[in-house]
Amino acid sequence: MYVLVINAGSSSVKYQLFDMDKKDVLAKGNCERIGIDGRVIHKVPGKPDFISDTPLPDHSHAIKSIVDVLTNKEHGVINSMNEINAIGHRIVHGGPYFTESTLVTPDVIKILDEKCRDLAPLHTGPHLMGIGGCLEYMPNTPQVLVFDTAFHKTMPKHAYLYPVPREYYDKYKIRKYGFHGTSHKYVSERANGALEKLGKNPDETRIVTCHLGNGSSIAAVKGGKSIDTSMGFTPLDGLIMGSRTGALDPAIVTYIIDNEGFTPKQMYEFMNKNCGLLAVSGISSDMREIEDAIAAGNENAKLAFDVLCYDIKKFIGSYAAAMGGLDAVVFTAGIGENNPDLRESVIDGLQFLNISINKEKNKNAKKYKDPVVDISSENSIGKVYVIPTDEELVIASDTENIVKGLK
Ligand code: ADP
Repeated sequence: MYVLVINAGSSSVKYQLFDMDKKDVLAKGNCERIGIDGRVIHKVPGKPDFISDTPLPDHSHAIKSIVDVLTNKEHGVINSMNEINAIGHRIVHGGPYFTESTLVTPDVIKILDEKCRDLAPLHTGPHLMGIGGCLEYMPNTPQVLVFDTAFHKTMPKHAYLYPVPREYYDKYKIRKYGFHGTSHKYVSERANGALEKLGKNPDETRIVTCHLGNGSSIAAVKGGKSIDTSMGFTPLDGLIMGSRTGALDPAIVTYIIDNEGFTPKQMYEFMNKNCGLLAVSGISSDMREIEDAIAAGNENAKLAFDVLCYDIKKFIGSYAAAMGGLDAVVFTAGIGENNPDLRESVIDGLQFLNISINKEKNKNAKKYKDPVVDISSENSIGKVYVIPTDEELVIASDTENIVKGLK
């Protein structure tokens, strides 16, 4: 079965075409700069990248470009879009309405449009345009929605309720939802598999998964189920991120609005785009640039790194408390997979939780080709794993299962 995975963002549509029988990626790419000018970057394993400046005035044109490039005689990998059996979409926010991956129907589109748009205004609009584009160019191909929020549906009420009047929960659905669920699910399942090989009962494991990218979140996964996570009502909550604040004293928000004269919308943009590591370092939201600045002796860059490590360490400690212990910590995503200094600094001092790393294994984690790299020290009772995430594969698998009627 061939499954096309679509991740439609505000100015880009990323895609991956899977052959599910072989679990192979046939092609992947990105339609960038939608609404600005437009560029299509198309990658086929074993071939040079194909890059084309194609005008992309909207998401419908982006989907059309994906159709064109996948079926292109020279750069394509299929003859016709009829060879694609299903499309899986990454959807950021399903609110309380979607807690499982779902086949697209007119009713599903209506709920996404009318109920989920307000919950994630930056994401839901582009998702709907991506679905609309697929309906336009592949009207007979079944589409499935896979939600970032779904994995966290198992959080207990005491973890997801905020201390606001109950009527706001009823009226506005204000509660913690959590995000990056597809990634937390994938890496926690892999970690659970590794722990099972060590004789642990997978229904009783206590794992903290750290998804650290431009957006970052941490989850407490007990017996394979999410029981708490750092992001909340929106992906702005939790630890410090590239350009997002993470958690703040809520009074800071009204204080800045009052003093700077921001509208609520401007404040929301400010907290998403002008804060986080970018604000503390004064250099960049990108960890690679922060690392370069640290190496050059920049103190603010080092401070940004320290704030992030301290945040992560505190979440690990609090989630170990929430789960009554800790069997493994998992690092994943751009920073988690690629930054040994950060991993060392985070785990340093957690010996009281019986967890420590082997510095050599940690430094060389990238060299191992294993899907689960154990970087724990020999006497560490809890394990520390580096596990590259693969959200697209989870989306493709869910899509395949739903279309085959297995789910
Ligand atoms: P997103 O959240 O947008 O999916 P990623 O998971 O790619 O982002 O993470 C982006 C972050 O990871 C950036 O701070 C970047 O510097 C860092 N990063 C990504 N790849 C590498 C790498 N190969 N080496 C070091 N840092 C990396």
